[in-house]
Amino acid sequence: MDIKLQQVSYAYSMGTPFEKFALFEVDLDIPSKTYQAIIGHTGSGKSTVLQHFNGLLKPSKGEVHIGDRKIEAGKKAKELKSVRQKVGIVFQFPEHQLFEETVLKDIMFGPMNFGISEEEAEKRARDLIHLVGLPEHVLDKSPFDLSGGQMRRVAIAGVLAMEPEVIVLDEPTAGLDPRGQKEIMDMFYTLHKERGLTTILVTHSMEDAARYADRISIMHEGRCVLSGTPREIFADSETLESYRLELPRIVKFQRKIEKMINQNLSKICLTE
Ligand code: ADP
Repeated sequence: MDIKLQQVSYAYSMGTPFEKFALFEVDLDIPSKTYQAIIGHTGSGKSTVLQHFNGLLKPSKGEVHIGDRKIEAGKKAKELKSVRQKVGIVFQFPEHQLFEETVLKDIMFGPMNFGISEEEAEKRARDLIHLVGLPEHVLDKSPFDLSGGQMRRVAIAGVLAMEPEVIVLDEPTAGLDPRGQKEIMDMFYTLHKERGLTTILVTHSMEDAARYADRISIMHEGRCVLSGTPREIFADSETLESYRLELPRIVKFQRKIEKMINQNLSKICLTE
């Protein structure tokens, strides 16, 4: 399912004295099955963009296309329920949204609310608990008896239980230790590769963007100022700095390796 933003502008509290434009004429094209990262400094508009991906926010100007649905200013958006099922959002600290008595019920909640049978919802929960790296007996526990990292995995399983085609991740590793961060990011990458899940990662971590994404877009002061492959995006450190972003270590490291290899090759060529 492709997602397209065409000339999207968005104002909070539109038409009131508190009106504040957070997005200006944003164009974004996210073809099905890509891994797209959206990076930018705090306040650049990342979260506002993200909420357009499943119709939580409607553009003040411009159009949003989610699969064959069009959402535009001034028009009532139809059948957003199916869009919400196909585009799953893992919000920041998703564990704050856990509320059921048991982990099993929590994971089953979304699908059952969408009319999926109890049997099927339970089957999904049992499959997913392994996928997110937790043992099956956790299903009978209260989510509130789990560690923070485990709770996050349960919340992610709850989003995946809807079997979305697109998953949107809003700083999915915030607050986790480095090992937990890598495990979660690797899990999403495996899902993307093995199940062809379109993945949109909203992050301030340029390392993660460099490591996992096929394409990266940079938000700056409410505008999408640059889009390209990680190589294109990280080619020019001055441009990045002008958007208050710093070249990630991993890229610097790769450059160093490339340089070393080139030097070695030239040495070999010289001696031959
Ligand atoms: P980011 O996710 O990159 O930190 P946001 O999308 O949260 O950026 O914010 C973009 C701009 O919109 C900021 O200037 C922010 O202050 C403003 N903003 C965000 N949410 C609201 C809101 N509910 N009401 C008014 N302004 C908001």
